[in-house]
Amino acid sequence: MKTFELVNPTTLEQALEALPAGRDAKRDSVKLIAGGQDLLGEMKEHLIEPDQLVNLKRIPGLDAIELDGGGALNIGALVTIAQLEEHAGVREKFKALHEAAASVGSVQIRNVGTVGGNLCQRPRCWYYRHEQAVCIKKGGSECFSYAGMSKYNAILGGGPSYIVHPSDLAPALVALGAEVTIRGKRGERVMPLEQFFTLPSEGSVLRENVLQSDEILTRVHVPALAGAGWRSTYIKFKERGSFDFALASVAVGLASSAGVVSAARLVLGGVAPIPWRVPAAEGKLVGRKSEAAAWKEAAETALRRAEPLSDNEYKVALTKNLIERALAQLGA
Ligand SMILES: Cc1cc2nc3c(=O)[nH]c(=O)nc-3n(C[C@H](O)[C@H](O)[C@H](O)COP(=O)(O)OP(=O)(O)OC[C@H]3O[C@@H](n4cnc5c(N)ncnc54)[C@H](O)[C@@H]3O)c2cc1C
Repeated sequence: MKTFELVNPTTLEQALEALPAGRDAKRDSVKLIAGGQDLLGEMKEHLIEPDQLVNLKRIPGLDAIELDGGGALNIGALVTIAQLEEHAGVREKFKALHEAAASVGSVQIRNVGTVGGNLCQRPRCWYYRHEQAVCIKKGGSECFSYAGMSKYNAILGGGPSYIVHPSDLAPALVALGAEVTIRGKRGERVMPLEQFFTLPSEGSVLRENVLQSDEILTRVHVPALAGAGWRSTYIKFKERGSFDFALASVAVGLASSAGVVSAARLVLGGVAPIPWRVPAAEGKLVGRKSEAAAWKEAAETALRRAEPLSDNEYKVALTKNLIERALAQLGA
């Protein structure tokens, strides 16, 4: 690994001061580090070789998680995935988030990995992670998975890169209507998490989200949906029994009144470069009883635009099954 300087700010202002300005200017020469689980892997594989790391862990206040008086959940960027998983309020009121947190990697990964780092982690595509493969995500001209090995790649929203977003927390948080707070040198912006992620065909193919090089994700806010009669669940399918990323996953939030679905949010993971929300499928649920015919229609609609690559057609049927299973769980 290349030698680097470690900067240890104790305030957000000091951390921001250490970051270079501009969208991509010197972006990889200075990197933020939280738990370091993803970043250090990238450095050891020589995917990035920063000169300086800005350590967020000494900044007080970013590691707090709290339910406010109105039942909304505020999660600091440095809250660990284990803290999230073990929080009684999350377990009770934001079931999809609890289940997503519990599904991440192993106990060790959840103990060290932070919520901010999990949302900002880089893709797991094996071409991207291979030191010698200069794919389109690393400044090359093509996505090798398109004509190459595509078993784990995208079936929705792909092109010109076919990565899938690796985070389990992201689909669950989008299904729960979460917002993120981003601090920069010029102030703070708050946006729905759904708008935080960008497709390879939008913005820069080199990035997965809207963060500028001089910005820090500081907080995730989850509105008090539970109080408004919402139920939610997260189902993940992985290849191995032990820790693994999702081949496909489904996060669903449903509100019902008198047996009829009044609102729905359906988000897919592991199948697209971003957490893939499917409003057309949500429309197949709203205004109807939660029953098998509606679940099937929603699943068919959600995958209607799927464009599998040569090795990942299996994800279409798999994802449809997961959607029906998740809806059946909530319906029961
Ligand atoms: C073996 C293994 C298995 C895994 N399995 C899963 C899994 O099943 N599901 C899953 O969801 N994840 C999985 N992960 C990913 C893991 O959850 C993430 O690597 C971890 O959560 C990242 O958090 P961190 O605090 O260590 O981030 P870091 O490694 O410190 O940072 C990751 C990236 O985010 C940036 N960053 C960190 N914090 C901020 C912030 N506040 N603002 C802006 N940018 C920031 C960093 O600059 C870096 O680019 C796995 C990882 C490993 C190594």
